[in-house]
Amino acid sequence: MLDIQKIRAEFPILSQTVNGKPLVYFDNGATSQKPQIVIDAIAKYYQEINANIHRGVHTLSQLATDAYEISRGKVQHHINAKFAHEVLFTSGTTHGINLVTNGFASILKPGDEVIVSSLEHHSNIVPWQMLCEKTGAVLRVIPMNEDGELIMKAYEALLSEKTKVVTVNHISNALGIINPIKYMIEKAHAVGAAVLIDGAQAVPHLKPDVQDLDCDFYAFSGHKMCGPTGTGILYGKEAWLNKLPPYQGGGEMIKEVTFEKTTYADLPHKFEAGTPNIAGGIVLGTAIDYLNSVGFENIQKQEEELLAHATKSLLEIEGLKIYGTGKNKASVVSFNIDGIHPYDIGSIIDKLGIAVRTGHHCAQPIMNFFCIPGTIRASFSFYNTKEEIDLMVEAVKKAKTMLS
Ligand SMILES: *Cc1c(COP(=O)(O)O)cnc(C)c1O
Repeated sequence: MLDIQKIRAEFPILSQTVNGKPLVYFDNGATSQKPQIVIDAIAKYYQEINANIHRGVHTLSQLATDAYEISRGKVQHHINAKFAHEVLFTSGTTHGINLVTNGFASILKPGDEVIVSSLEHHSNIVPWQMLCEKTGAVLRVIPMNEDGELIMKAYEALLSEKTKVVTVNHISNALGIINPIKYMIEKAHAVGAAVLIDGAQAVPHLKPDVQDLDCDFYAFSGHKMCGPTGTGILYGKEAWLNKLPPYQGGGEMIKEVTFEKTTYADLPHKFEAGTPNIAGGIVLGTAIDYLNSVGFENIQKQEEELLAHATKSLLEIEGLKIYGTGKNKASVVSFNIDGIHPYDIGSIIDKLGIAVRTGHHCAQPIMNFFCIPGTIRASFSFYNTKEEIDLMVEAVKKAKTMLS
């Protein structure tokens, strides 16, 4: 079992008070908090090795380059990518998805089809819509049921030889539903479509195995997995990354530049134009080491208990409805109380020190499906406790009394 108090002590922000109350941080789906070891690693980089990478022959530049490439190797190992050059540093999930949609602009033809799911974050909808507008491809949407689960029969009916790409999240940020992506990837490949997995909400809870999943792309952010903001990874299969054109032009991504013609650098540099977030990339490796030292089995066990406790306690409140009641769920509870706007509850419980997200969670189509303006979303991390959940439940009850 995890020693939660010891773990909490590693996260300085968790001992803060907010509005005069101890902070209860349940907005982990938006961004996770950072352990001291990650915070220290950022300072250490700037204090000891700050230099630009892949360029200088001087010692610091080599140290920085080595640290950056070691971190790439850590990510490769963590997600079980076949090659380190299949691991691209990005500024986050959004960047990774846009890199892919930009590449597909030169591949898709009018009438080709792109399949997205109805559970997607806006950042896995809008870039594909932009791509379809540019190319004349058609966007198709996998519907979901009342439990917030994607309907597999409908998905299979959408697939055809016209399908060129399927894009779906591993775990829904708004509802916490875990999608059957391995099955979906297999079905997509059967019609020759490429698959992008948005793993932004998965990586804080589990260790994806990209070779086992057999996905073509897997995008995630560092900041939701205890790493710094402005960091992320796009995994892509070598063959796809070779096929896609570069996303941005600039320094670092070239082999040779003349005014007549430029040739591009090999992977991964072809997709890493300009000076990247060097400190961030290095420290993302520190965050991954940290999570592995806690252990994903332990993380899942703790989070499952938190989810069960929160679900049970919240449902005791009369008029409270949870959205996303499917069986396979990560530690996210999205809910509303009859007749009360989620924003009003969120504001009152914030005064009591409780940080939750209210609104559409960048997933408006899901809110439209349920005919609601938004939800209150409590998203738990392994460093949260049942006592904190009890504080939230009490606060929600108090808010309900005040508002009804
Ligand atoms: C947070 C999130 C994103 C966007 O991540 P950024 O870090 O903002 O780029 C995309 N998809 C899902 C499912 C998310 O939760």
